[in-house]
This record gives sequence, structure tokens and C-alpha cells, in this order.
Amino acid sequence: MSSHSPITREWFDQVMVPNYAPAAIIPVRGEGSRLWDQEGRDYIDFAGGIAVTGLGHAHPQLVAALTEQAQKLWHVSNVLTNEPALKLARRLCDLTFAERVFFANSGAEANEAALKLARKYASDRFGADKHEIIAFTQSFHGRTLFTVTVGGQPKYTQGFEPLPPGVTHVPFNDLDAFATVISDRTCAVIVEPVQGEGGVTCATPEFLQGLRELCDRHQALLIFDEVQCGNGRSGHLYAYMAYGVTPDILATAKGLGGGFPISAMLTTTAIAESLNVGSHGTTYGGNPLGCAVANAVLDLISDPELLAGVQRKHELFMAGLRRINEQFHLFRELRGMGLLLGCELIETWRGRSREFIKAALDEGLLVLVAGPDVIRLAPSLIIPDELIEEGLQRLERAIARLLSPTAA
Ligand SMILES: *Cc1c(COP(=O)(O)O)cnc(C)c1O
Repeated sequence: MSSHSPITREWFDQVMVPNYAPAAIIPVRGEGSRLWDQEGRDYIDFAGGIAVTGLGHAHPQLVAALTEQAQKLWHVSNVLTNEPALKLARRLCDLTFAERVFFANSGAEANEAALKLARKYASDRFGADKHEIIAFTQSFHGRTLFTVTVGGQPKYTQGFEPLPPGVTHVPFNDLDAFATVISDRTCAVIVEPVQGEGGVTCATPEFLQGLRELCDRHQALLIFDEVQCGNGRSGHLYAYMAYGVTPDILATAKGLGGGFPISAMLTTTAIAESLNVGSHGTTYGGNPLGCAVANAVLDLISDPELLAGVQRKHELFMAGLRRINEQFHLFRELRGMGLLLGCELIETWRGRSREFIKAALDEGLLVLVAGPDVIRLAPSLIIPDELIEEGLQRLERAIARLLSPTAA
């Protein structure tokens, strides 16, 4: 097989590390909320590249921002700064609680920076004893050794031990359990306002409010991981705004670049001081290309009309999913916020969420799972209403086929 032969899915098994199991088709082009594969077959995209392509594929304003910047300047390293990065940082500060911004390239790196900053800040101000990190079961914070340790899903750390010490997990949305473990030795608490990978579970307002109060009482920093639920996906620019609870540090990524890898860690001036010159960094963080695209993304997703549209489309999805459920009685709960939606399967279908990915694909629809029991949808924030309808019809056909294979 030479690298000039026609490229097929089989190549994956021949030349890639087997840590993924991609579907049988290979998409080659996307436009808005549609994708086309090598055979020219079309797919409606309810997956959004796992909550990343929040403005769909090949959005003209993003293509323009990327290609314009591509002709000017790609990379200068952090020995120099650049205009797109400064503009993006200024706008993130204007639009959020933040006073200081650090750029990286992925969600894991933004969380890694947040956790390292929290450790450094506590060490600077209070000494080495104040180093404990509290996180929640079912949470997901990335795949570096530190972030995977902080994440609350043991299956992702098995075999990678020894793990960094000083991390405790308590059940999500359980303020009483949390109150028993937080202490003056706690340096930070990290939480997803809406758990994405863990099953699309929204924090209760009382829970986040309670975390804020207890963190203040123990001088611990509150970190919100908005890698998945940020950047308009909740129907608010950031989910913390919906809850009215302000973190000390916020990590975001996924939707920020609309498909171009970029992430950001937002914080205050007083906390940021602990990352002094030379204490942390990354070669590509804040590169002109990524920042130019993110500036264009931010232009679009900070528009109140777009955000109101997310809420309206949430209702369309929910109504459609409830209709499907009246017919098939497949979901025990429909939940989520904005355009991050979870359909939890009933008892008899537990553990089988992945079968719906395949069935949907066969009907020309891309969906996600969030663990073995939940079908997850994270479409473009501007998916046209007609495509929501058409996609839901494809989902209905996929479910019908899966539930009664002989009838189809
Ligand atoms: C996806 C995700 C991450 C990890 O982001 P990467 O870009 O894959 O490193 C971290 N936290 C949350 C909440 C996520 O959804």
C-alpha cells in the first residue's frame, strides 16, 4: 500500500495508534450543519465535532478570518506577542469576569494551567500544605496525567499510575458530601457547570452557589471547566452567567475556535500574578491563526440574538425528542442546557448508547454519546430549524430500525 493509493478507512487500523474507533465513513467536506463523505453521501450534524463546531462547518466569517490571517502571520512564539491574541484577550476581559487571560491549544491544557495556577497561588500565599484539589465523580477535565487524575472517571486513569497526589473526588450535586471534605488545606475546587462527557448533567444552582460560599470560607479557588458548556452552548456566553455564580478561574476551549484548536484560561489580576515570568507556558498558545479565528467566533457568539436562538432551538429539540419518546418510550430522562442535550436510555437499553451512533449514521445523522447510557446532541448553535426537523426524522427512523430490526 503506498501513500498514493486511494485513502480508505482501513488505513486507520494499519497506521494509527488504536486509541480511537472511528466510524466506517470518512467525511471530506462540510457546510453549515451538513457533512459529506467520500461517496458523496450527506449527513446532518447533531454532533458538532463534540461540541466544537458551534458555528457549523466552513462558516464564511471564520473562513475569511483564517485565510486573511494565514496570508499575514502564522507564528511568532511567546517571545513576541501579536495583535490577534491581544485583541482576543481584551474582548474576553470585556465580556466576562476576567481581568487576565492565558491562551493554550486544548481543553486539557487550559485546565492544566488552571490547576497549576491554583497550586502556585496557594503555595505563594499560604504555603505548601494548602495543595488539595477537590473534584467530582463523573467529571471530565482532559487527558494529561494531572487532568485525568482530577477527572472523576477511574476508567481513564487505570494503568497510568502512579497518579499525582492531593486529589479528592465527591459526588456531583451533593453539597453535604462536599462540605465534609473541604478544609483550609483545599487549594482549589474544579467543576463543570454542566457535566458533558459524564452524561450531560446540569449542576443545580444551589450546588454551585454552595461551592462558591464554602470556597470563600476556606480561601480555596473555584475553577469552572467550561471547555464544553462555554462559548454560547448553554444559551449564555458562558454557563456561569446563567447560574449567577462567578468562578475565580475559568477554562474554556472547544467552541472557542469553532474547530481551530485554541483554549483559554480566564482569571483575575490578583490570582494571575502567581504565574510570573517563566513559571508556565506553551509554544503555540495564543498563536495569531487561532486567535484570529476565535475573534471571529466571539463576534458571532456574543450576539444576544444568537444566544436567544440557542434557547429557542433547545425548545425545538426538546419538543421533537419528547415526540419521539412518546412513540418509543426509550428515554427515561431528557436533559441539558441550550444545545448540549442528553437523552438517558431506559433500564432495558442501559449500556447500549453506542448502538445509536451506528444506527443514526446509517440514516445519515451524526450523534454522540455521553457514557454508556446517554445519547448526546451538541449541534451547531445556528443549525437551521428545518435541519433540526429533518435530523430528528432521521433519528426517529434510526431508533425505529434499532428497536424492531425485522420491521425495517
Ligand atoms: C473535551 C473536554 C476537555 C478536554 O479538552 P481537550 O481539548 O480534549 O483536551 C476538558 N474538559 C471538558 C469539560 C471537556 O468537555
